[in-house]
Amino acid sequence: MQKAFGGKRHLINPRVADITEPKPEQSRVNCQYRHECSLGCPYGTYFCTHSVALPVAVATVNLTLRPFFEVRQVLYYNNRKRATGVEVVDAETNKTYQYTADVIFLNASTFNSTWLLMNSATDVWEGGLGSASEELGHNAMDHNFRVGAEGSVEGFDDKYYFDRCPAGFYIPRFRNVDGEERPYLRGFGYQGSASREGWNREIAELNIGKDLKNALSTPGSWRIGMTAFGEMLPDHANRIALATSLTDKWGLPVLSISVELSENEKKMRSAAPSRCCRRSAWSM
Ligand code: SF4
Repeated sequence: MQKAFGGKRHLINPRVADITEPKPEQSRVNCQYRHECSLGCPYGTYFCTHSVALPVAVATVNLTLRPFFEVRQVLYYNNRKRATGVEVVDAETNKTYQYTADVIFLNASTFNSTWLLMNSATDVWEGGLGSASEELGHNAMDHNFRVGAEGSVEGFDDKYYFDRCPAGFYIPRFRNVDGEERPYLRGFGYQGSASREGWNREIAELNIGKDLKNALSTPGSWRIGMTAFGEMLPDHANRIALATSLTDKWGLPVLSISVELSENEKKMRSAAPSRCCRRSAWSM
């Protein structure tokens, strides 16, 4: 990249939160090189909520998990002008419960947290808790992605990957920076990774015998791929709302989603390469 772009593009090796020393008090060991990182590291080496934060929280005995509870509304006490708890339905028994708390966090992801607000305090605000802003449910944004390139790379046969790095590479945005102007606002970066083809490349060939054994124990050629991740601008017209006629099995309105890419996002997408290639250098 240095040679092709004269220092105007940068490739960052991602940092990953892998521990280097075992932490038995947290039931975590250092990396076992099992290559299951994308599942959330069952050994707690690579930081993730399921294998690191939740077990530690459970160990405090101050945490109770209710995986089959569906929160259906935030309770709002109008006289005190504050949220006081949540109402839940037990998905296994269909019984309803109420929990109260001084502080309530909605960690139901963007869309479901918004659904919950829209389904709460509707006797006070027709559009739900927080709808007085007239922005609740609006400005929905997503990744502007699924354009990029992939291909085989010739050479580098003496290279292989090593050490703990369950991540690929990142190329930060280089459009509309440093005085450059493109016919769209903002820009995109790239996320990608490279790997050598493994033993399964031989399956299609129905190989057999010594040749097959040799092929299975030899890394294949390099492949590299990357996807552009573009910025999506907030647009009031892109919105999610409670469906007016469709409900789920508990009689709760499902989410209706009405979101479109704007001309700006479409222009940005067409600027990112989208092809498969077999070459040793790409233009971007
Ligand atoms: S980080 Fe990845 S390779 Fe290392 S122990 Fe966790 S899952 Fe296995």
